[in-house]
Amino acid sequence: MTKKRVYEIARDLGVPSRDLLEALVELGMPGLRAVSTVTDEEAELIREFFHERASPAPPEAPAPERAKAPPKPRGTPRPPVVAVLGHIDHGKTTLLDAIRAAHVADGEAGGITQSIGAYQAVVNGRAITFIDTPGHRAFTAMRARGAQVTDIAILVVAADDGVMAQTVEAVDHIKAAGVPMIVAINKMDKPGANKDRVLQDLAKLGYTPEEWGGTTVTVPLSALTGQGVDDLLEMILLIADMEGIYGDPEGKLEATVIESNLDPARGPLATVVVKNGTLRERDVIIVGSTWGRVRALLDHRGERVGAATPGMPVQILGLDGVPPAGEVVERIENPNEARRIAAERARATADERRAVRAPKTFEELIQVAQTKKLVVVLKAASTGALDAAKHELGTLKADGVELELLHAGVGPVTESDILLASAEGEGQPLVAGFAVRVDGKAARLAEQRNVPVRTYDIIYDLAQDVGRALRRLLGPEYREVKVGEAEVLKTFDIDGVGRIAGCSVRTGRVVRGGRVKAFRDGEEVFVGEIASLKRFADDVREVQAGRECGIRIRDWNDVRPGDTLEIYTVEEVPL
Ligand code: GDP
Repeated sequence: MTKKRVYEIARDLGVPSRDLLEALVELGMPGLRAVSTVTDEEAELIREFFHERASPAPPEAPAPERAKAPPKPRGTPRPPVVAVLGHIDHGKTTLLDAIRAAHVADGEAGGITQSIGAYQAVVNGRAITFIDTPGHRAFTAMRARGAQVTDIAILVVAADDGVMAQTVEAVDHIKAAGVPMIVAINKMDKPGANKDRVLQDLAKLGYTPEEWGGTTVTVPLSALTGQGVDDLLEMILLIADMEGIYGDPEGKLEATVIESNLDPARGPLATVVVKNGTLRERDVIIVGSTWGRVRALLDHRGERVGAATPGMPVQILGLDGVPPAGEVVERIENPNEARRIAAERARATADERRAVRAPKTFEELIQVAQTKKLVVVLKAASTGALDAAKHELGTLKADGVELELLHAGVGPVTESDILLASAEGEGQPLVAGFAVRVDGKAARLAEQRNVPVRTYDIIYDLAQDVGRALRRLLGPEYREVKVGEAEVLKTFDIDGVGRIAGCSVRTGRVVRGGRVKAFRDGEEVFVGEIASLKRFADDVREVQAGRECGIRIRDWNDVRPGDTLEIYTVEEVPL
């Protein structure tokens, strides 16, 4: 039995996959995606149904009302922004070059040919924006400030090598970003290419390929010969259609820096990808702690463009400093205001850096828990050590809080680990190393981004510290501690106040605001709180054993001579 993908059927019918999928819902086949496969019979059914639906209904029978389409976001479909990730030497650069060579029109003579960090390819008349810097370091840096630049991620896996350490790392980064992934199984031209092994590796990672009934989209290709590259491009467009990637040129400006550098001749250069709105020359913008009036916008061919619309990457000239990747662009009317805000931010960042002290424990670092989720990046010296550490972390539990292992890998703690942890918007990030060191750049970045990083030589210490951090997220735990006992000698009823118990403190002390348990003939008769504590006529904070005092118990006027009062305080339980 042959199988066909939904998008292939859509192509045969000459309709957009999106429309076909809407029709399938009516046909009672919901949940299918453009890349899903169906049997021949189902394909036939779909074709028939679609033809019927597409042919005009006879006038006497009004067409059935179409299922309500979800409200479309404002704007129009814009080019998807695609990043390429994967293990070193698996062919990321070769793939990006192949696409560029085949699908990017050359700039006019005299254009500046250096890369700006992204380019737009035109495939079947539609543009796709590729981020030119491959690898997960760049990928995660781009989303470090919370703005998502990438719409679709390509994971490149060499068919002769299979899934490797950095492949796993890349998958974790993609997962954390929550963007759709397409696996490009590269180097299919090589004699040692083994596609099935790659599929198996992916399945082992929990990404069951489509052809095995899962949802992971894979495309076999060769970046070197170009074979299969067009399939990949087609798949990108398909997924873009499925995802509904929109931008409104008239809307609010959303643009993120993907690359920046200082050019000796032209000054600070920053390449941004516009996701929404339009960036124009002469606009006054703030980018992090830099600002400027846009002097020129250059496209990926080095040609000057007056404006950048959604989906376009452009290089900005005119900023007064070099903003880091991941920083977002804000447009503002008043240049003086822009200068002031940028300067203020620069000052605040400098202060923050000074304020950071060498951290001791995770527990100290997480003073105020804002979240109920701990996201951990774990690094260890070997796979054995990593497995052991993973196992230890797996045993940690605290009700109501979640520990998510964002990434676990072998090797020192690097900048990429810090970026991954800090880009995670929801939880409290922690980067833990077991028998590994933190490289210098990573340590500096961790300080800037305020990401707690610790390394351990003993696995028990690691588990204990992370366990404490987890419990810290729960907020402090309290317990009652008995501090004293008093005997009621007499009582006085005072109008408008209530009954006061005249007591003698037998042991310990009585404290204002303390909890109180009252016992009569050995039985507990009331549990409450001390509303006021007086010695003679004065309000006091506490009264020691051997002294007398007047106690009023909140909401209880039945205290009697002879009752025993046990006094408790509520204390935070140390972790
Ligand atoms: P990156 O580190 O992932 O960017 O990998 P590169 O693109 O630099 O490729 C590493 C090596 O693999 C280079 O020597 C490429 O020529 C080679 N390579 C890349 N793609 C293919 C392919 O499809 N087939 C073959 N045979 N070699 C390839």
